Amino acid sequence: MKFVPKKPREGINVSDVHPLVEAGTLVVGLTGIFIAIALALIFIIEIALYFVPAKTEAELFSGWMPEDLVTVSPADERLYETQKLVDRLASHWAEAPYAFRVEIDDSDVANAMALPGGLIIVTQGLLDQVESENELAFVLGHELGHFRNRDHLRALGRGIVISLFFVVITGNDVAGLGIKATDITLRGFNREQESKADEFGLAIVHSEYGHVNQASRLFERWDEADEDAFAIVAYLSTHPQPDDRVDNLRDIADRDGWQSSGSISPLKW
Ligand SMILES: [Zn+2]
Repeated sequence: MKFVPKKPREGINVSDVHPLVEAGTLVVGLTGIFIAIALALIFIIEIALYFVPAKTEAELFSGWMPEDLVTVSPADERLYETQKLVDRLASHWAEAPYAFRVEIDDSDVANAMALPGGLIIVTQGLLDQVESENELAFVLGHELGHFRNRDHLRALGRGIVISLFFVVITGNDVAGLGIKATDITLRGFNREQESKADEFGLAIVHSEYGHVNQASRLFERWDEADEDAFAIVAYLSTHPQPDDRVDNLRDIADRDGWQSSGSISPLKW
């Protein structure tokens, strides 16, 4: 019997699917895979940031300032006194891994934030609102609480996380990243992070003064004021509502038996 090869049918190597559709599927598939890998990487890096020792973080960001910060003169009296107050408060945090640096942002809007490397920014607007050192001490103590729990790393935007990763790998300077404070603080913190920071802040205030009198006085005033007021809306958008906060602080003080009466320290300016 003789083998007679048959010719394959016409178009056997041609897919039934239109080539453009095939190309489209390929592009969509590859893009999907790429996005999945990128998201997984970002997720891993965000978690890995917590394993970067605070000391390394402090070195990486030493001397760093956000690009959009408008600082007051280094000779500013309020800057000098606020830095001194932060140093006093931080002395109650044994083995704090940061050398805290205070900067005052020349803005009328009240705000305070904790930024990488131990940088605490308070605005002129916030300093205008506080009426005693005790009020300011609690606001600052709260920000110290964010450093303690390293919340400030969780608030970093994705873009910054990726850039930071490459800075660490290439040994470049963080200053070259052009990070803005508004990029960092946009994400804010969740309720639990805020209440933990409040708890730490109140403990620090108690250690410093031996009582917690006036620690939440600023928020009592804000609770009575118009909460949409331009001067305070920024702070309130990234911190708990003042009435909840006053209640929580009172509960903490009651629980730990901290006196709510005691002498008030006036502001040093
Ligand atoms: Zn906070």
